[in-house]
Amino acid sequence: MNQRSILLWSVLFLGWTWTASAQTTVIKAGHLVDVASGTATKNQMILIVDGIIKEVGSNIKTPDGAEVIDLSKSYVMPGFIDSHTHVTMTTMAGADINDFGAYYYTGLVETTAFRAIQGVTQAQSLLESGFTYIRDVGNNALYADIEIRRAIEGGWIPGPNVIASGRLISPFGGQFQMQPEKPGLGNPEYYYADSIDEIRKAIRENIHYGATVIKIIVDNQPYIYSVEDIAAAVDEAGDVGLKVAAHAYSPEAINNAVVAGVASIEHGNNPSDETLALMKKMGTYLVGTDFPASQSGQERFELILARNRRAYAAGTPMAFGSDVTYSRPGWTRGELTLEFLESFTLAGIPNDYILRMFTMNAADLLGVETGQIKAGLAADIVAFDGDPLKDVTALRGVHFVMKDGTVYKQGGEFKWESPRNMNNPRRKPVRKVLPPRKVN
Ligand SMILES: [Zn+2]
Repeated sequence: MNQRSILLWSVLFLGWTWTASAQTTVIKAGHLVDVASGTATKNQMILIVDGIIKEVGSNIKTPDGAEVIDLSKSYVMPGFIDSHTHVTMTTMAGADINDFGAYYYTGLVETTAFRAIQGVTQAQSLLESGFTYIRDVGNNALYADIEIRRAIEGGWIPGPNVIASGRLISPFGGQFQMQPEKPGLGNPEYYYADSIDEIRKAIRENIHYGATVIKIIVDNQPYIYSVEDIAAAVDEAGDVGLKVAAHAYSPEAINNAVVAGVASIEHGNNPSDETLALMKKMGTYLVGTDFPASQSGQERFELILARNRRAYAAGTPMAFGSDVTYSRPGWTRGELTLEFLESFTLAGIPNDYILRMFTMNAADLLGVETGQIKAGLAADIVAFDGDPLKDVTALRGVHFVMKDGTVYKQGGEFKWESPRNMNNPRRKPVRKVLPPRKVN
């Protein structure tokens, strides 16, 4: 062969490889749930090429060689998102969740290696239950959250896509009471930062180790982060396109964080009506971490329901986030996470809004291109039997899970084999996320 024909054959071969390597799938959806409009349309098709949704409609021509997945008896909707989880924190079964000691104790006695392995299990269980994206917000066993994300992205283990915060940035002492002889016991779980310079340094260090969101603890100590402190965090994180999630319980702490321009309030137990209205105006998400009655006890659960009613009525943007760190015999982490649905249904929040909290609202908060079944977005898709617009507990029956175009669960069976193709993703540029709002 002369040089010219070698070139020609190379071009033809490359062309063939490209065509052959395009992974094309068509899903036949019996009922396609559009979370944006809160409607379901019968007999729709979804065309997916290389993990991205290309077309959605009732009459799509199936390309040659496409894999066809028949979900014609099912309800099909975007994969779920938990905006507040901790895969590397599992308090021991039987420990009382309301006892902060158990939570503290876990950070002290469990090894980083064991917590990372627990994180692998919890990540898989979330994917099995239909969660295709999570935001992991600290209690991360010294950056095990970042390594779990690396292992998932590298194909070593199955799990959702992950936005991870790295270490929790907090006032001295983290979430606990220290004693002067052992002030460092909150480390490395918490990164103590008590001035604007220290806050900026802590953020840079987290970014260095791979954080893709910044999480600050506003108010577990006798003093709380001020508007100026938090605005500096928003500014520092915003420089590289990251958002700030603010753990805040008290009305004052919540208000400081909202005014400073954070992307989300985590927990937000009792915001004032004025703050809820301000959150609506600023587009600040409430990630309520609304423990179900079985976990919170009836009295606290009533407060959770009341807060959810107020937030929904005020038009405050809400995204689902669980904060499950507990375990319960007989339950997976994914199942425990879906138990939270009652915290919204019993508050009277309409089913279509609950579906948005679990999908497009959370995707907007995370700044990721998923959360709806629409051309151009990632093919993160789940299916189950019941109509979720009539009864959202249908979400507990997920029998099909696709993430980025790859099927992980089909016919109720989880699909995972020891990988033949792994890679070792190192540090990446921070994810493309929407810039945080500027503070006036
Ligand atoms: Zn949490």
